[in-house]
Amino acid sequence: MSHIVIVGGGIGGLAAALSVVRKGHRATVLERGDFAELGLGIQLAPNGISALDGLGLGGRIREIAVHVDELRFFDGVRGQQVASMPLTETYRARFGHSYVVINRGELYRTLLGACREYPRINLVGGVTAVGYQQIATTAAAVLDNGHTVEGDALIGADGVRSAIRRQLVGDGAPRAAGITVYRSIVPMHRVPAELRWNAVSWWAGPGLHFVHYPIVGGAYMNLAPSRETGVTAELSGVPVTDTEVLRQFRPLCETARRLLELGEDWKSWALVDRNPVPDWTDGRVTLLGDAAHPSLHYLAQGACQALEDAITLGDLLDCPTREIPDRLSDYCAQRREHTARIQLAARDSIRLWHPAGAAADARNAALSALSVSELHDHIEWLHRPRTSAAAGEQVVPDVPRTL
Ligand SMILES: Cc1cc2nc3c(=O)[nH]c(=O)nc-3n(C[C@H](O)[C@H](O)[C@H](O)COP(=O)(O)OP(=O)(O)OC[C@H]3O[C@@H](n4cnc5c(N)ncnc54)[C@H](O)[C@@H]3O)c2cc1C
Repeated sequence: MSHIVIVGGGIGGLAAALSVVRKGHRATVLERGDFAELGLGIQLAPNGISALDGLGLGGRIREIAVHVDELRFFDGVRGQQVASMPLTETYRARFGHSYVVINRGELYRTLLGACREYPRINLVGGVTAVGYQQIATTAAAVLDNGHTVEGDALIGADGVRSAIRRQLVGDGAPRAAGITVYRSIVPMHRVPAELRWNAVSWWAGPGLHFVHYPIVGGAYMNLAPSRETGVTAELSGVPVTDTEVLRQFRPLCETARRLLELGEDWKSWALVDRNPVPDWTDGRVTLLGDAAHPSLHYLAQGACQALEDAITLGDLLDCPTREIPDRLSDYCAQRREHTARIQLAARDSIRLWHPAGAAADARNAALSALSVSELHDHIEWLHRPRTSAAAGEQVVPDVPRTL
C-alpha cells in the first residue's frame, strides 16, 4: 500500500483520493479551506458521469441530477432559436449516459461523503501548501507553517493558481481572458412557466452570451451570463448589483432579459486559463484538474476532465510503490493531448459565441444547417467516455425529469 498526499480538496482532489484508495492505497488530502463548494450549477456530460461510475458514485449522481433533454442555441439579439441538439434517446444510446446538470454543492457533498466512508482517507482542512520536496523515494508537501506532509507520491490538485504547479511548471500567473462571468440561482416558481425548459440554453450576442439551466431537481434555475469586459483583476465571487448585470446584457432580446431580471445576489468571476504544457510530472509529483490543464468553462468540461484524470491516475497507480514515478509519467502522457485540445477549443469557442453582424449570421447559417447526427459528431470527442469505467459499467436507465 502506498501513501498518496493530495494538495487541494476540490472536486479533483476528492475524486483522486477516492480513485487511489479504491486501488488499495492510503490518501491524505490537504485543503486550505474547510471542504465546501458553492451551491451553483454544473453540467456533466457522459464522460464525467462515466468517471463518477468509476468512483462508485454515478448511480447517486444520476438519481439527484436533472437529466436535460436538449442543448438550445439562440441568436440572443434576434431572440431566435438557431439550433437544438437533442440529448434524449439517440444521444444517450450513442454516449452511454444522459447529459446532466446538478448543483455543484450536491456533487461535492457526494464526493466528500464517499471520502468520509473510507478510513484510509485522511481529510485535513485549514492547511496551505506552498510547494513540495522530494527526498530519495518520498515526496512531501511543504506547508506555509514550515511543516511537511510526506508520502510516496504527491498530487497537486490545488486549482488554477496551484502552488505545486508554481514550483513544478513555473509558468507564472494564469492568463486573464478579459471576460467576466456573473452567476445567480433563482427559484423555479419565479420563472415564467413558458420558460421552464428542461434544457441547457445559450443566448449569444456581440461580445457576450448567457447560459441557463435547471438544477436541484428542477427547483432552481442557474443563470450564468458572461461578457468581454477586459477585466484583468483577480475577481472570485465578488458581489455585483442587479442593475449592473442588466446593464451589461442590454443587447440581449426581451426573453433573455426577462430571465436575467429574475436574478438576485449576483456574484462575478474573472475568467482565467493557461496555455497547455507538455509535461506536468516531476518524479513522484504530478498535477491534476485545473492545476494541470485549466480551461475556460465554455465547453463545460473542467470538472469532467478532473474526474477523468482521477480515474486514469487511480488505474495507473494500481502498482507497487517503486513504479510510481513511471506511472505518473504515463498518466501525464495519457492525459495531456486531450486536455490540451480542450483548453484550446474552449478558448476558440469564443469565436462561435460572441460574434456580431455578418459573422453572427454566418455562424447561425452554419449551425442551423447541421443535422442531429452531425451535431452529435461534433461533440463526440468531448462527450464520449474515455475512462476504463466506460467499458465495463452497467448503465442505469435514465429517467428524464419533468420540471
Ligand atoms: C463559471 C464556471 C462554470 C463552470 N462550469 C462547469 C461545468 O458546467 N462543467 C464542468 O465540468 N466544469 C465546469 N467548470 C470548471 C470546474 O468548475 C473546474 O474545472 C473544477 O472545479 C476544477 O476542480 P479542481 O479540483 O481541479 O480545482 P478547484 O475546484 O479549484 O479546487 C482546488 C482546491 O484546492 C484548494 N487549494 C488551493 N490552493 C491550495 C493550497 N496552496 N494548499 C491547499 N489547498 C489549496 C482550494 O481551496 C480548492 O478547494 C466551470 C468553471 C467556472 C469558473
